[in-house]
Amino acid sequence: MTDKKITIAIDGHSSCGKSTMAKWLAKQLGYIYVDTGAMYRAVTLFALRKGLFHDDTLDTNALESLMPSIAVGFVVQPTTGVPQTTLQGEVVEEYIRGMEVSSKVSQVAALPFVRRAMTQQQQRMGADGGVVMDGRDIGTAVFPDAELKVFVTASAEVRAQRRYAELQERGQAATYEDILQNVQERDYIDSHRDIAPLRQAEDALLLDNSHLTIEAQNKWLLSQATQCIEAQNEK
Ligand code: C5P
Repeated sequence: MTDKKITIAIDGHSSCGKSTMAKWLAKQLGYIYVDTGAMYRAVTLFALRKGLFHDDTLDTNALESLMPSIAVGFVVQPTTGVPQTTLQGEVVEEYIRGMEVSSKVSQVAALPFVRRAMTQQQQRMGADGGVVMDGRDIGTAVFPDAELKVFVTASAEVRAQRRYAELQERGQAATYEDILQNVQERDYIDSHRDIAPLRQAEDALLLDNSHLTIEAQNKWLLSQATQCIEAQNEK
């Protein structure tokens, strides 16, 4: 008997390591990994490149009319097997993680027409199960019937420190204070928007990883996933 392939939704606050853990879990299970935050970041990069931001104000009408022509996707890096985000066919990983995109992405992600397009694409990507998807609304809006839902959080200070270390490692300039402010701003916008706000689904397991090592967290996650897959196969 082949294992039933389940859908795993990993939601939570910004910069709490969701993508690292989701990527790792997908690899262990032989599942597809989808970083939905990267998709919103790619749309934001598109808007920036087209000059649709005037200071901090976005020309939403122009973005909406261009929306059908925006192609966001993923290609698997042959050596590492890790998916790389693409925009109009170009790998844009190195452009979507910096502060410029980070400071504007929540504004873009709150737009109904952007959410609609991304949600539909995510639902198509995960239609056959066997997917680990991380984001803000996967367990509540994209796959409300996901077999396993995890909601991840950590204190804003811990998250800002982790993001700071990550950007330092990549040689991208940013101060700890700016990152902390960005993390708090995104938490606020993501939790207060009208459509698909960030919230823990009632049936999601809560994981606060402020004081957990990556090893302990991975062990917990894999055991939850394995139990869930076993339970599905017994049905
Ligand atoms: O996960 P990441 O921090 O890269 O996501 C960037 C931003 O994209 C979030 O702050 C949020 O505004 C938005 N997002 C979203 N829904 C998702 C994933 C990300 O609104 N499913």
